[in-house]
Amino acid sequence: MAYDVLIVGSGFGALTAAALLTKRGLKVGVLEQNKYAGGCSTTYKRKGYWFETGATTLVGLDEHMPLRYLIDETGINVNLRKLELPMQVHPPDGQVINRYPDLEDWISEAERVFGKKNQRTFWKHLYSISQQVWQTSLTQLSFPISNYKDLWQSILRARPSQLRLIPGAFRTMEDVLRKYDLLQNKLFVEFVNEQLLITAQNYLPEVNELFGATALCYTLYGNFYVDGGLINLINPITDYITSNGSSILYRHKVDAIIPLPEKGYKIHTSKGILTSRFVISGVPLNNTASLIKDEKVQESLRKYILPSPKLNSAFSISMVLKNTPALKTIHHQVHVPEGLPIIKSKSIFLSLSHPEDTLRAAKGETIASVSTHIQDPENNYIEHKAIAEDAIIKVLQERGLVRKENILYLQSATPGSWLQWTGRAYGMVGGYPQYQHLKLWQMKDARLDHKGAYLCGDTVYPGQGIPGTCLSGIIAAHKLLQDHY
Ligand SMILES: Cc1cc2nc3c(=O)[nH]c(=O)nc-3n(C[C@H](O)[C@H](O)[C@H](O)COP(=O)(O)OP(=O)(O)OC[C@H]3O[C@@H](n4cnc5c(N)ncnc54)[C@H](O)[C@@H]3O)c2cc1C
Repeated sequence: MAYDVLIVGSGFGALTAAALLTKRGLKVGVLEQNKYAGGCSTTYKRKGYWFETGATTLVGLDEHMPLRYLIDETGINVNLRKLELPMQVHPPDGQVINRYPDLEDWISEAERVFGKKNQRTFWKHLYSISQQVWQTSLTQLSFPISNYKDLWQSILRARPSQLRLIPGAFRTMEDVLRKYDLLQNKLFVEFVNEQLLITAQNYLPEVNELFGATALCYTLYGNFYVDGGLINLINPITDYITSNGSSILYRHKVDAIIPLPEKGYKIHTSKGILTSRFVISGVPLNNTASLIKDEKVQESLRKYILPSPKLNSAFSISMVLKNTPALKTIHHQVHVPEGLPIIKSKSIFLSLSHPEDTLRAAKGETIASVSTHIQDPENNYIEHKAIAEDAIIKVLQERGLVRKENILYLQSATPGSWLQWTGRAYGMVGGYPQYQHLKLWQMKDARLDHKGAYLCGDTVYPGQGIPGTCLSGIIAAHKLLQDHY
């Protein structure tokens, strides 16, 4: 067989697995339908400007975090700019909330905005949980358990601090706010809900304490910006893969994964058939289920697959701006409690290129990425883009973040655009949302058929944002090596 491993898609999960397996001397082929790598976490060029495809915020590089692990394992070098202020939140009452990176500074800010009652104890508790979750995640790479070897590895690596986390999987963030008597604080509840939506893809009653803690403490870890855009995070990874004996095959759309009778897989692509001993699917579960031609596997996946009404897509706008007012940070979440017309989302996320980044736009110009959530994408493909665009620009103008007359260029993407461009079922993006009835150990494990097919990406454990997908790629590579080498 020409390849040891073929990987479907070149999203962050897939590239992580490809880099780690390449490091172990395996010959990997990454099959990407588009002409560039990185999926929802890279940068593309249009009209001479560099726009982010999806993700704009970057965490996961601190000790015990997935991107740090990937970089340390491979020696990949990425030029990172640490943000002094990771984010500002703009509630409807005109206040500006600074999400300071230092815990004490953030607690003082939270007390200033939401009142002194229990903010300190709430945030101290959450931060401590988030630290334990991150520390556990890389020591428990066999989790979720799907065979005896996993069970044994998990027991060997179990620590009392990890066991203490378990009750958090049964508590919702709503329970946690109730415990700290914060559920009556309307401004705080709205703040938490909208922060959870961008980090855990769901609201207080559905997000468990463990995911909720890491999601809400996102800004308390190192937040980074990559000059030139996330393509300069992706390029060092693809360079590492291709300069160490593996390949990335662009314009190779995978149409079918066919298990061979003895061992190995035949992969049908738009450019012909390839074979490999192992396969990793880096595309969503919904897509994987129709690609793999094995009825038993398809049946086993059924219980994990979420339908469109339980998923989110995005309405996003990419803009070039001139004369952007000097702002304290590049990331802003703006609340719209009445909901945006057509889109219905109650918040807008705005990210700007760093003022000192000269690679994405000419001096004096800024690149802006705007995104909002759209629930149930299959039934909300958005026909009237102009109405949604106008409504978003109006809100950003009212909050002093963007001036309409300063927009030099604007383009927007609907769930239909995401479907066409990423191939993800229904145009669903951002990963599977958190749901309380789905416990951590009930999420899909990286093994697809217990023979040689694996999974990673933002719809399998733990799959949220770049750090989660990176961890899913680490786990897929780890389990493949544990099972066969
Ligand atoms: C608007 C938006 C904003 C976001 N903001 C953030 C953020 O600020 N911070 C953060 O951490 N995360 C953010 N995310 C989430 C994050 O970008 C994604 O969760 C993550 O990048 C998904 O990675 P993945 O490995 O699942 O693969 P994907 O990014 O989904 O990549 C899959 C790849 O597979 C390819 N593909 C699909 N089907 C086939 C096929 N049949 N054959 C071959 N190739 C195929 C696609 O072209 C794509 O390149 C955001 C996402 C979006 C959409």
